Amino acid sequence: MKSFKENVDLYVDRAALDLGIKHEVIEHIKSTHSLLQVNVGVPINGVLQNFTGWRVVHSEHILPTKGGIRYSLLVNQNETEALAALMSYKCAVVDVPFGGAKGGLCIDPKLYTEEQLRLITRFFATKLITKEFLSPALNVPAPDMGTSEREMDWIVDLYKTLKPTDINYRGCVTGKSVARGGIKGRAEATGRGVAEVIRELFRHPDLLKQYKLKPNLQQNRIVIQGFGNVGSHLASTLYKQDAATIIAIGDHNGYLYNAKGIHITKLKDYHIHNKSIQCKELGEFKHHPEELLELDCDILIPAATEQVIHQANVSRIKAAVIIEAANGPIAYEADEYLHQRGVLIIPDIYANAGGVVVSYFEWVKNLQHMRFGRLEKRFQEQKMQQLLAMLEHQQGVSLTDQQKTTLIQGADELDLTYSGLEDTMRDSFNQIRNIQKINNKSLRDCAYQLALSKIKKYYTDH
Ligand code: NAD
Repeated sequence: MKSFKENVDLYVDRAALDLGIKHEVIEHIKSTHSLLQVNVGVPINGVLQNFTGWRVVHSEHILPTKGGIRYSLLVNQNETEALAALMSYKCAVVDVPFGGAKGGLCIDPKLYTEEQLRLITRFFATKLITKEFLSPALNVPAPDMGTSEREMDWIVDLYKTLKPTDINYRGCVTGKSVARGGIKGRAEATGRGVAEVIRELFRHPDLLKQYKLKPNLQQNRIVIQGFGNVGSHLASTLYKQDAATIIAIGDHNGYLYNAKGIHITKLKDYHIHNKSIQCKELGEFKHHPEELLELDCDILIPAATEQVIHQANVSRIKAAVIIEAANGPIAYEADEYLHQRGVLIIPDIYANAGGVVVSYFEWVKNLQHMRFGRLEKRFQEQKMQQLLAMLEHQQGVSLTDQQKTTLIQGADELDLTYSGLEDTMRDSFNQIRNIQKINNKSLRDCAYQLALSKIKKYYTDH
């Protein structure tokens, strides 16, 4: 089996075939531009424990570079390089002006207390900051698997202490709490972004017909692997706003199945209280996590981890459409097989970009030192109030207080975040689709072509 980074490079090679980009330029684009490996010794209960970590800068064609920090025992250099490369292509696809980066620490966070994790994070981040692999200008992490807003808050506090004269210190990480300068809507951004992808797909009747999807989203059966940050926000957005029928949700222990559709709001409540999805009232729980991928369904959404669809299980995948909410969930050979079998795959470098899109908004907010909407919200409301009063007078009608409130309300930070996210996801879908209309290749090839055509401009004169 090819390594994760080899997989990503093969996609680049395949997409580059049609673009006429010089071999040496493609080789440079594919290569990791800088790499830091660290070992941090942290005293835990009086015993020194060693943790190995990486911060990879895949592409410096734009600065800063951007990418999450992952805490997992599976973290290694190859995985971190692959994830950093995906970040470069992802940012290019969704027109976010960052190069690609990624970080990871080889650790099982479940084995440590909160205070121990704080200490470990501070040791790791101190190395990254002092080696210039973490700053608002050069390299900006965010949460990924095993990390969250909490770790980002620890890092921003540390950065402020170490670099007190950096006026933009809040922009050293994204995905932090709103109290530390985060942006409303970041926590749910990746899952919500995937929901926008699905909605845009359903605005394309030609694609629905080609892949035998029913015209209404609600009529299609959805399966989601992963109920963490991405999977849970995706599921609740689709359930609450689109009345979607999610027949199965999985995690690393197994999956919950209900042919009529799972009540996601109740499942989320259950998960908050029990840290588990094994809720008998909401469906049948099966203790075979990998079998979830093989369920009979219309749309399969891997939202857990990489390389879960591979040569050994690909022939048993039944979904007509796969949306890669996780990074790299399909191995290269499996991808080729599925494409030949006529499965529509919406690739990770577009599908899960919602997180970095909103991270970009957060970083801009930190550099401008003001939340979005603060200047114009009341001004917009006053103008709308005047307009409605004029219309009521001229037309002789009278709106209810409820109608007036809805129409008058100006956009706040969350409205603007959601609006920018929706706009970006819809626009990028159509950029990719327009390439496909010309070359009839897979959406993955088209997304990579879109990314490469933008990145190559930094290395060639035309
Ligand atoms: P998370 O740690 O919050 O949740 C991961 C979920 O996947 C958990 O429910 C876990 O039980 C499940 N899981 C892990 N390994 C599994 C396995 N082998 N089989 C079945 N289930 C498994 O992680 P997350 O932040 O939701 O990230 C999920 C994926 O999305 C990762 O590939 C990540 O790189 C990608 N991603 C995350 C973000 C983000 O903003 N968090 C952004 C872009 C991409």
